[in-house]
Amino acid sequence: MDEVRCREVWRAVLGELQIQLPRATFETWLKQTVGVGCDGQSFVVEVPTAFSVAWLERRMYQSIQKTVEKVSKQALEVHFRVKDSGALQPNVACASNGGSNPLGFSPTGAHELETSDRMQQSEEPSLNPRYTFDSFVVGSSNNLAYSAAKAVCEAPGQDYNPLFIYSGVGLGKTHLLHAIGHQCAAQGMSVLYATSEQFTNEFISAILNRTTEAFRRRYRSVQVLLMDDVQFLSGKEQTHEGFFHTFNDLHNSGHQVVITSDRPPRSLALLEDRLRSRFEWGLTTDIQPPNLETRMAILAAKADQVGVVLGDSIIELIAKRVQKNVRELEGTLNKMVAFAQLGNSPITPGSTLRILDDMHAETDQHAIDPERIIEEAANYYKLSSGDILGRSRTQKIALARQVAMYLLIYELELSPTQVGRLLGGRDHATIIHGAGKVNGGVNENGQLRKDVLTIKEAIFAPEPRKAVGAMAGASAR
Ligand code: ADP
Ligand code: MG
Repeated sequence: MDEVRCREVWRAVLGELQIQLPRATFETWLKQTVGVGCDGQSFVVEVPTAFSVAWLERRMYQSIQKTVEKVSKQALEVHFRVKDSGALQPNVACASNGGSNPLGFSPTGAHELETSDRMQQSEEPSLNPRYTFDSFVVGSSNNLAYSAAKAVCEAPGQDYNPLFIYSGVGLGKTHLLHAIGHQCAAQGMSVLYATSEQFTNEFISAILNRTTEAFRRRYRSVQVLLMDDVQFLSGKEQTHEGFFHTFNDLHNSGHQVVITSDRPPRSLALLEDRLRSRFEWGLTTDIQPPNLETRMAILAAKADQVGVVLGDSIIELIAKRVQKNVRELEGTLNKMVAFAQLGNSPITPGSTLRILDDMHAETDQHAIDPERIIEEAANYYKLSSGDILGRSRTQKIALARQVAMYLLIYELELSPTQVGRLLGGRDHATIIHGAGKVNGGVNENGQLRKDVLTIKEAIFAPEPRKAVGAMAGASAR
């Protein structure tokens, strides 16, 4: 298999995985990987860091291997190797994290891996060059947010300060945030983009390393602060306090703050009241899921970007079937293009329908269902799912329940209301409190981190086959 074909195969594999996996997982671990070689026995994939190699081998090996075999139609063993680039060595990542493991992560902790990766990214003003105003398709569902974002660039720090954008996942919040960043930077302003997880991590390690002065300077000296996914600002009061002061300083000196979230400010139960009300000082706007017309326009634009021509009927077919969000729309398109290139065959309505059907079946099969998360959390603490759904508040049960809340929110990206419904009809404030507690706890409590990690591994492990008759009963836990 030559290099070009390797890349194509891997792109098709990524297309499949993108649809099967939670978004955060895909973006963190797979997005930057490349298929680089194949000798007929092993298929080599380059990965940015040694951390990612370890993670992919431990958590994803089987599903990746299966997908590679399926796409390439050959029996191949997958090998991951670190991309040969001095800048991305793991030691560098640790150094940027303040030297020797300041947060006390265990060497095998996935949390450490994720944090280090993020720390590394946060060294750069990581704006995605593809996320610009030009590449953003405007329709009735996102018109308001788009106009507000443009207005911010025209008069930063003035009427719309802060600008608060909220929506469900995959609807373009991050895209708009980066677009603001590009434009303001082009106008000569200093811009800082950070996810609230980054903010939280940096804040905590600044406290531990006594580098809070540098932290303050970094965040409070910028003219435009772009804070993504503020709902993940961890449940710790100190972090809120830190953000509150950062926010006030910037706002008082007329600097622009733009914030995104998956819900409106008033529903951000994690935040202190005074911070929440500050968010409402400027302009709050939402993005709705795109209607059919906008979905078609987005698909046409994306197809254009990757250089393929899709007829209107095919665009309509996809846009009618894939409705949830723009990310899914993109994933579907990528997959179709990869398959067409791979098989060297044109995209026809027939092949489109086949791929759509196929994908539908697969998503159903591979999606991690909430019940599994509840079950694994219960298992780990030697409890039953019924205990978690029930009313008992013994310490052990309460902990298992909170861990389940945390995983349902952070791994499946469910809303607190959905989680509340799944967990025996609890209200969303309870869920936010419980999940926030665990989210804060994994940073400072080694045992809790280990618990969560082990449960996550169990969740992501290939599922024991369910419907295989007597065997299933025999091997049931
Ligand atoms: P969110 O941050 O709301 O979860 P993103 O900004 O990450 O969503 O968007 C998901 C993907 O969809 C990105 O690749 C983004 O470029 C694309 N996207 C979302 N909305 C639009 C749009 N209106 N026009 C073009 N691309 C879009
Ligand atoms: Mg986003």
